[in-house]
Amino acid sequence: MESTHSYWEREEWLNAPDLLIAGGGIVGASVALFYKKRYPGHDILVIDKGVTPEGASTRNAGFACIGSISEHLADMQVSGEEIVLNRIARRWYGLELLREIAGDAAMEYEHTGGFEIFTNPETFDDCQKKIDDLNRQLEKRLGLEEVYSVKEYQGYPAIFNRVEGAINSGMLMRSLHQKMNELGVRTWWNCRVDEVGEKSVLINKKLWLKADQIVLAVNGFVSQLTDIPVEPARGYIFVTEPIQDLKWRGTFHYNEGYVYFRNIGERLLLGGGRNMARKEENTDQFGVNPKIKEYLARFAGNVLKLPVNWKIDVEWSGIMGMTADKEPVIKQIQPGIWAVAGLSGMGIAVGMNVARNLVEMIKS
Ligand SMILES: Cc1cc2nc3c(=O)[nH]c(=O)nc-3n(C[C@H](O)[C@H](O)[C@H](O)COP(=O)(O)OP(=O)(O)OC[C@H]3O[C@@H](n4cnc5c(N)ncnc54)[C@H](O)[C@@H]3O)c2cc1C
Repeated sequence: MESTHSYWEREEWLNAPDLLIAGGGIVGASVALFYKKRYPGHDILVIDKGVTPEGASTRNAGFACIGSISEHLADMQVSGEEIVLNRIARRWYGLELLREIAGDAAMEYEHTGGFEIFTNPETFDDCQKKIDDLNRQLEKRLGLEEVYSVKEYQGYPAIFNRVEGAINSGMLMRSLHQKMNELGVRTWWNCRVDEVGEKSVLINKKLWLKADQIVLAVNGFVSQLTDIPVEPARGYIFVTEPIQDLKWRGTFHYNEGYVYFRNIGERLLLGGGRNMARKEENTDQFGVNPKIKEYLARFAGNVLKLPVNWKIDVEWSGIMGMTADKEPVIKQIQPGIWAVAGLSGMGIAVGMNVARNLVEMIKS
């Protein structure tokens, strides 16, 4: 009888792990780390469709942030004040957890603070009026005094958030994967889950693999595998070539967080603009929308006033998973099969916490 796999492969390589995680982004990797800590003897396998974690975790902007005031005000219109304040608190505690588990050096964490700049005086005025109340609420919930304050940056009215920072996202993900490898977690790259069965997944359309527990940590791609209501949303970023005397240093938000920029050494990273083509950008296909690229290039010239000879060095897109109320979904979709998705563009802040919560649920 001919078999596709050898005895050794069957016994030692393709044997059912205790936990199989589809998705090697910040959430999948953190689930592996928290689970391994709880069950050191268990076999864990992480599989990912890409040669890198090919979603958002190595394609984001690296803002360790809790959100700008114009974003909070817009969110309060949708979800109400209490929910948004709780969300800000979760982001803050999530960042604390990330810094504790990953370590600042392993992700080049820089405590830059974050500026929101304004070109519309009325919007600035509305946001400025909210500062005292927000500061009072955050002091009550987080014990942090005077989080937001009025400043000016490059001639623009600005609101400074003193508790935010910037990270090197590539370094963070390499470090999480290194930690996983050191703990004996197995990783298979270029392995796509095509179908979910009973305590099993079909990989690359040819191999059914069983596992005692399965976690689908595929965020913006989750609707390809389940009916969980998470919408894919594409985000665009470019990084310039080094710019002499770059004036923008730190992390910056604009227009409810739809535009964001920061320096990486002497280069500027600029991203966002999804609100310019929201419908087209609700996709899980990578790609560059010329409308958005042009909008951001104009912003770089007209608002940021970069010197005329600035050039894009590298551009890319990433796929986020959005929920209607920005709350991530953690759900058991079948016995032993869990889905975690809908990080809603804030996975650096909330990814580890979501992963830890999921591991708590798997246990019970
Ligand atoms: C352009 C951009 C900028 C961002 N900037 C920030 C920021 O500054 N700060 C912040 O907090 N957040 C930011 N985010 C959001 C943040 O990156 C995400 O919330 C976070 O990375 C989500 O992590 P995740 O592990 O859930 O998903 P992902 O990182 O997307 O990981 C999911 C993984 O699943 C894999 N996968 C998908 N389908 C399958 C399948 N069928 N089989 C096997 N593997 C599969 C993918 O290849 C991917 O590696 C940004 C996102 C984007 C796109």
